[in-house]
Amino acid sequence: MNTANVAGKMLTALVLGLCLIVFGVGAQAAPKKLLVVTVTKGFRHSSIPTAEKVLGDLAQKTGDFTVDYVRDDTEMAEKMTAAALANYDGVIFANTTGILPLPDKQAFLDWIKSGKAFIGMHSACDTFHGPNGTVDPYTEMIGSEFKEHHAQAEVDCINQDPKHPADKSLPPSWHLKDEIYLMKNFERSKVHGLLTLDKHPNDKTPGDYPIAWCKEYGKGRVFYTSLGHREDVWDPNTAPSFKRENPKDVSELYQKHILGGIRWALGLEEGNAKP
Ligand SMILES: [Zn+2]
Repeated sequence: MNTANVAGKMLTALVLGLCLIVFGVGAQAAPKKLLVVTVTKGFRHSSIPTAEKVLGDLAQKTGDFTVDYVRDDTEMAEKMTAAALANYDGVIFANTTGILPLPDKQAFLDWIKSGKAFIGMHSACDTFHGPNGTVDPYTEMIGSEFKEHHAQAEVDCINQDPKHPADKSLPPSWHLKDEIYLMKNFERSKVHGLLTLDKHPNDKTPGDYPIAWCKEYGKGRVFYTSLGHREDVWDPNTAPSFKRENPKDVSELYQKHILGGIRWALGLEEGNAKP
């Protein structure tokens, strides 16, 4: 090997190294881009403006991600085509309901499968029910479907994975009041459990009543929590007109719960997703 050859190889190695440093650091520092979807075609929760504000505040406070909102059909038609979705790293369905007018639902699901993040709160599970009792592909993606709820209830959520980013700030048993969903088309063997109840939220019959979980979807990551009906679950600083029933620490823990779920789904933090 002559000297010129060696010098050439060293130069190549140096340039490659510099590229790795520049792009490596750049990728780490750039915030991820999330779409926050709050379109409803069924029940519309009064907590939606609170949810939008809390997610925007979390984005700003952490610098982990930016949020762009999809609040109506026009914004959905613009920002959720296959081409437009390519600009984002993931999506948050915050209390969506009903059959949403996605420009191309299959392209949306394929986009998640390609390695994007899907985060759902509360009625994200009350979205896209299949016709005549069939299971919609969206339900398979999120991992369950809302069946019914009864009166709001005080429950003790069992922390199923204290090591997971979504659970690491929560106590072993987390007491709160919310509207608690009863699910259908849920298969424990297809998700990684994060929060559950060991008794029915209302009549207290023993059983398994899933509250939050995560799962892989192709190369994508899905995080869902059924909590988030009440304003005082989302926000420790609700308006004076809102009659608080949850102490502030419930909302502070909820924000840590969803932030951990968001960070995990975006691949910013690792956690078990195996069933
Ligand atoms: Zn609700």
